[in-house]
Amino acid sequence: MISYEEALDLINKEFGKINLATEDVELTESLNRIIAEDVFADVDLPPFDNSAMDGYAIKFNPERSRNIIGEVSAGNFKEYIVGENDAVGITTGSKIPEGSDTVIPVEDVSIENDILLFNDNAKLKKGINVRLKGSDLLKGSITVNKFTMINPSVIATLASCGKDKVKVFRKLKAGILATGDELIPVSEKPSHDKIRASNNYALHAAFQSINQEPVSYGFLNDDRNAIAEKVKTILDSDIDIFVTTGGVSVGKYDFLKEVFEESGVKKIFWKINIKPGMPFYFGVYQTTDKPVLAFGLPGNPVSALVNFYIFIEPAIRKLLNQKEKEVYKATLQDDIRKKDGKKHFSRGTIYNGTDGWEVKSHSSQSSGNYYELGNANCLIITEAEIRNPKKGDVVKCILI
Ligand code: AMP
Ligand code: MG
Repeated sequence: MISYEEALDLINKEFGKINLATEDVELTESLNRIIAEDVFADVDLPPFDNSAMDGYAIKFNPERSRNIIGEVSAGNFKEYIVGENDAVGITTGSKIPEGSDTVIPVEDVSIENDILLFNDNAKLKKGINVRLKGSDLLKGSITVNKFTMINPSVIATLASCGKDKVKVFRKLKAGILATGDELIPVSEKPSHDKIRASNNYALHAAFQSINQEPVSYGFLNDDRNAIAEKVKTILDSDIDIFVTTGGVSVGKYDFLKEVFEESGVKKIFWKINIKPGMPFYFGVYQTTDKPVLAFGLPGNPVSALVNFYIFIEPAIRKLLNQKEKEVYKATLQDDIRKKDGKKHFSRGTIYNGTDGWEVKSHSSQSSGNYYELGNANCLIITEAEIRNPKKGDVVKCILI
């Protein structure tokens, strides 16, 4: 059985072969996408010297009064030539009139008989409250680097650079198919030995949460022929990733591995020395123009989701040049039972305690218990060679 690290390396290697296509999207549709071009400022930012405050534009000198000769406001500029004794009323963002070099805020002045007087406590210094042309960015300089994730402030920069459309990396398409004789639709009430199919919804959401494009194929019962037919159709569709759940363990009806191989998927590995999520199948299906990465995940919703968090998400982040997920070091608040030699990813709650990060492990670590996963905010990582981490030990955690 291979280790977590070996498995992740193999997965990363195959992800690296995906051809990252790009597409142009409207700026308003670009949130959370990864930009696929360097963007340069096409104008100086700000494009002209302007006021940072509502106040009065003056030419700086030690005098503490001025004649008001007019006013300008943002977007409504009028030509004035500001002399030594003059002031022009000005609003934030308005272009600075010729001759002036300093803005005195409205809070620091009073007006008597049309004469502007500076308050005793007014701060007077040449150049204050003036934002100089190009002080943010000079025309031609790089404003947004390729591979930046677009957030609202990046959108402001892109808008200021005239980008009403942006080139972003195409979302990866991930087909999701659940399998299992026990599965019934969410809309039905389980009776006898049936359960509602849930992990496929969780995985769908997981891909959405990292801004990729899930394609739901619902679920199939453990009918080998029906599964084989569906698997082949999905592999030949326009997806990049194919995730199945269930049927990859050693049970009598666990035939996903064989179905994958009969469909032309080349196995990379099966089973990883981890808990939860050990019976994990990974292979690659090569179509004429692209690889499809095939993941056979166990059916347990917790195992399937943990597998997503520790393999699929990191591999997609790496492919898109995003930072690795941060690893937090936290003090364990209770003992964790771990008797085996697997690498464990236990559900926990991490918080900022009196002495830095602290983490509580959750009482039930059963991979069937997804209520616990819903309540957890992190996975506590216990290396394969460590046994029974104790309260007070410092452990590594990743946020989920
Ligand atoms: P398997 O990997 O097929 O052995 O399934 C492991 C466990 O996960 C069993 O308890 C299944 O009932 C459960 N399970 C399988 N598929 C799903 C699913 N789509 N949603 C929720 N639970 C599932
Ligand atoms: Mg099953």
